[in-house]
Amino acid sequence: MKVFEQIARQRHWTEAETMVLDQVRRVADEVVAPNAGGFDETATFPRTSVDALNELALNAIFIPEAYGGSPVSYRLYLECVSVISEACASTGIIYATNYHAMGPVVDHGSEEQKARLLPRIAEGGIASLAITEPSAGSDATAMRTRFTPDGDEIVIDGGKTFITSGDVADLILLFGKWSEIDDDRAAITAVVLETDAPGFAAVRNERKMGHRASSATELSFSGCRIPRANLLGGPGDGLRLLLASLNKSRPSVAAHARGIARAAFADMVSYMNERSQSGRRIIEFQGNQFMIADLAADLAGLETWLDHVGALIDSGTEDIGVAASIAKMRASDLAMRMTTEAVQMHGGYGYCADYRVERLMRDAKITQIWEGTNQIHRQFIGRSFVAK
Ligand SMILES: Cc1cc2nc3c(=O)[nH]c(=O)nc-3n(C[C@H](O)[C@H](O)[C@H](O)COP(=O)(O)OP(=O)(O)OC[C@H]3O[C@@H](n4cnc5c(N)ncnc54)[C@H](O)[C@@H]3O)c2cc1C
Repeated sequence: MKVFEQIARQRHWTEAETMVLDQVRRVADEVVAPNAGGFDETATFPRTSVDALNELALNAIFIPEAYGGSPVSYRLYLECVSVISEACASTGIIYATNYHAMGPVVDHGSEEQKARLLPRIAEGGIASLAITEPSAGSDATAMRTRFTPDGDEIVIDGGKTFITSGDVADLILLFGKWSEIDDDRAAITAVVLETDAPGFAAVRNERKMGHRASSATELSFSGCRIPRANLLGGPGDGLRLLLASLNKSRPSVAAHARGIARAAFADMVSYMNERSQSGRRIIEFQGNQFMIADLAADLAGLETWLDHVGALIDSGTEDIGVAASIAKMRASDLAMRMTTEAVQMHGGYGYCADYRVERLMRDAKITQIWEGTNQIHRQFIGRSFVAK
């Protein structure tokens, strides 16, 4: 593990940042990790883990001070997501989704909206980001949820599917189409829904392969009324806001996948050093060493690439779409490979729930699918090299 200790040492954190990280690591070790298996087994929302993160006021690290926050660098936020996700991928995605949903409000909300909405999340509220619909997945522009203006209100009709934390959220950043705009793409609009709005319902939660402690919820809007004051930007600004916010949420889902990959690597190396067959520890077989070498090299590359993307965002660089896509694609593919090999190296025990790698492999799969499938990211990255 020396090479990873070197990478960790090379990361420069200020004293204040080190304090944040130490606290997050402590809560991850003492509360989040020990409870992860139980919440997964019973598909229960990880309340004690979320409460423990809220005791650290961890949502506040992505909210400006003026609205009750205590912001840190994006690079540090990414590290926090990885530490939590290494302990429990479900808790990690619940936490990161708070940021994915509220980041666009921080970046694009009006003063009035920020002052009214953000303190609720800074204090530990839960947020969801609702884009996907049954007929609008990879092509989000096919969404049908409709926003109809009515005086100083907006009436929402339609539905969303697979929405992380949709059944427990306080606020939902919701995308739909403005009824007065005909063009399909130009009509996309964003609003913030407060979940006590009349006409809103969380219909049901999916039964999933992994991330069982985090809900993926079907939402319905039937004549649902929200104040027009909750419109983010103007009618038709949605696609611009969506693309800008994905550039920041993709490194965050990459950091989540990195957490899963780190956990699988640690468990795999530890087990391979303990388990002996034919008179040798299984890590001593050269074929297994080659496999470990490739995975270690890729994990080391991911660690430094995510630091690079975090630093790009911290420096205010705007054109980060390809860098963010590379991070998301590489991290999630690595999480899947790493967890698959970790199960393989555990032999039959890896297939059984007594070992954490069984859960990690189930948790890893979705990281290749959400936040843009990896096919979509490959197209986007590849296309960026086509000469104009
Ligand atoms: C557990 C979970 C949590 C989720 N959380 C959220 C959430 O919080 N908010 C939210 O809005 N959504 C969420 N999603 C939805 C997720 O983002 C979508 O599932 C994802 O975008 C893919 O859409 P789809 O499932 O409709 O698949 P489809 O778009 O139908 O894709 C099916 C297959 O076709 C491929 N494909 C599609 N288009 C192309 C193309 N142009 N070229 C090549 N291949 C293509 C895809 O790569 C995929 O392999 C979640 C999903 C799950 C399962």
